[in-house]
Amino acid sequence: MLILMKLDATRRQIDDVKTRVSELGFTPHEIPGAQRMAIGITGNKAKVTPDHFLTLPGVTDVISVSKPFKLVGRDFKPDDTVVDVGGVTFGGTEIQIIAGPCSVESREQIMEAADVVRASGARLLRGGAFKPRSSPYAFQGLKLEGLEYLKEAAERTGLKVVTEVKDTETLDAVAEYSDLLQIGARNMYNFSLLERVGDSGKPVLLKRGFSSTVEELLMAAEYIVSRGNYNVILCERGIRTFETATRNTLDLNAVPVLKKLSHLPVIVDPSHGTGAWDLVPPMSMAALAAGADGLMLEVHAHPERALSDGYQSLAPDTYRSLMLRVKKLEPVLGRTIMVN
Ligand code: PEP
Ligand code: MN
Repeated sequence: MLILMKLDATRRQIDDVKTRVSELGFTPHEIPGAQRMAIGITGNKAKVTPDHFLTLPGVTDVISVSKPFKLVGRDFKPDDTVVDVGGVTFGGTEIQIIAGPCSVESREQIMEAADVVRASGARLLRGGAFKPRSSPYAFQGLKLEGLEYLKEAAERTGLKVVTEVKDTETLDAVAEYSDLLQIGARNMYNFSLLERVGDSGKPVLLKRGFSSTVEELLMAAEYIVSRGNYNVILCERGIRTFETATRNTLDLNAVPVLKKLSHLPVIVDPSHGTGAWDLVPPMSMAALAAGADGLMLEVHAHPERALSDGYQSLAPDTYRSLMLRVKKLEPVLGRTIMVN
């Protein structure tokens, strides 16, 4: 349920409404908008009706929201959310590029990748240190050592860091070394981890699960936002379908669908979405044309030597030429693409 306050509602009236919501056993969420203040109500302890609030001073309307997601939905908050990752913004007029290897493999490897990525324009460096691999025998990442190398490479090049949080045990360490916490596809349904990253207050990059619907992705985001952390960026990274020609099927429908249903920024990962480096450039262009707020690309200075996802990683030349092509979309999209 959403309580709309009058345009001239006072601070005192807003606080009184919030107190009433709490007294009834629900949680009030202030949702400031360009036009007016609204107060969202969540909680499942009892039944709430519009009559509880309509008579309170400063209230103009009470709307019931039937969608299962509330705080992440446009019904609750019509204005786009802009997520600020250490001065790099997602969801505003800028389009951001996140790039880097699948995994941090060594100090030299991530340093070289950071140089490549920075030279052609990315603002964020990616690289997994705690890798949730499908096989227990596959490279599991350099863990804490990897976080240190990643941070060092990012600081040297002036990039911000995004890396995956695999579990609640390692969350504090990952949060200390990164600017943006990545929740991977395998963890999209890990609700206790979602709550913990919500509590951390740090920006979160939430990847869509392989077999999750758009609504399930939004419900996962709701777990984070319901802890008071609105700094969530959604990521379409391909889903499993009957199609076997590509590693996953990149669901570009999800971009405008998510934008319609939610105010959160949406980016696309065409590397995992296709699984093949030569399909990444066309699908990157398509993702931006579809309205994505950014791209997450796997880039490796020597893809043939990569310890994970080498085949879908862009080599430096391909990455560079893609960035030049992407930049040409600016006048068509009417947005600034943050590549150099
Ligand atoms: C990754 O970004 O390297 C990764 C493991 O992605 P996903 O969780 O989408 O599979
Ligand atoms: Mn990968």
